[in-house]
Amino acid sequence: MLALRWHGREDVRLDDVDAPGTPPDGSAVVEVAFNGLCGTDLHEYGHGPNMIRLDPHPLTGARPPITMGHEFSGRVVAMSRPWPGVSEGSRVAVDPCLTCGECAWCLRGDYHICARGGSLGLAADGALARFVTVPLRSLCPVPDAVSDEMAALAEPLAVGLHAATRAGVRPGDSVLVLGAGPIGLAAVLGARAAGAAAVYVSEPVRARHAAASVAGATEVFDPTSVDVRREVFLRTDRLGPRVAIDATGRPEVVDLGIRSLQRGGTIAVAGITDSVLNTDLRQVVLYERTICGSLGYNFDIPRVLGLIAAGQLDPSCLLTDVRPLTDAVDTFAELAAGGHHHLKILLRPEEN
Ligand SMILES: [Zn+2]
Ligand SMILES: [Zn+2]
Repeated sequence: MLALRWHGREDVRLDDVDAPGTPPDGSAVVEVAFNGLCGTDLHEYGHGPNMIRLDPHPLTGARPPITMGHEFSGRVVAMSRPWPGVSEGSRVAVDPCLTCGECAWCLRGDYHICARGGSLGLAADGALARFVTVPLRSLCPVPDAVSDEMAALAEPLAVGLHAATRAGVRPGDSVLVLGAGPIGLAAVLGARAAGAAAVYVSEPVRARHAAASVAGATEVFDPTSVDVRREVFLRTDRLGPRVAIDATGRPEVVDLGIRSLQRGGTIAVAGITDSVLNTDLRQVVLYERTICGSLGYNFDIPRVLGLIAAGQLDPSCLLTDVRPLTDAVDTFAELAAGGHHHLKILLRPEEN
């Protein structure tokens, strides 16, 4: 079968590889319907290795070349043993977290911060291929009302829902989302699904404003032309938003989020960069604000699927194109060259 494999920086190839055989104990084989590309994939392509390791991964032993792809839906075609809620033929989304199941964090249920954790598509072969082997516990059944395309978007949406949960969004809250790329839009959708009454968005790329509005933004501001802190302050009874969610990882943006919060407010930082935050700590201490990190998701993918099925979350605004897997190499190059007009592109493996 064809598989899009990471060989090195700016070197991804469509290779002909063996399809998975009988799944090892604890695993299943999924025939992939759709797989989305994300910023993590592009970062590995343009600047990696980052999450991909050149030495064998401590949990999986995998090393490059490695099949990418961790945001996907498909159909179970083989199982090593029965598993609750799933059988061969079931439509599934997959939680791509690979976990040891034994460390202190796994044992308390925080598998997403497992001490030895990794992800399918980075620490083991992923879903940019027709078939992928996955742990049984990662299978998330897809309700009939949710299409395969929407199910493939459940993973990035789970990032947004998890950030809204980490930040403690409550019904009726005012929320400021910083950045309107795919994760920022997922945060808007997640905050709305958590009951936010107003969601303000800061995003300098004008082309992204319309999608933010469709996702549920109350108002979208361009931080290069207006004082976002002041505009949101005026719209929140001169209090500031109770919650902010950063989807950029940029220090000046996180600092804006901290300073914009009302007293006692919380900001969840979901954007990942290696930047250093330089913030006046009085902005945190004197107003008793909380800063927390938000990494990926933790049992959030089934919640997202349930919300989509119930009509309380519509991820279709994220989807900008569907292409065959055979276009994968060109698509990586195109997105790495900057395709700001694209949010989420799904690749569809074909029978080969
Ligand atoms: Zn991703
Ligand atoms: Zn663990």
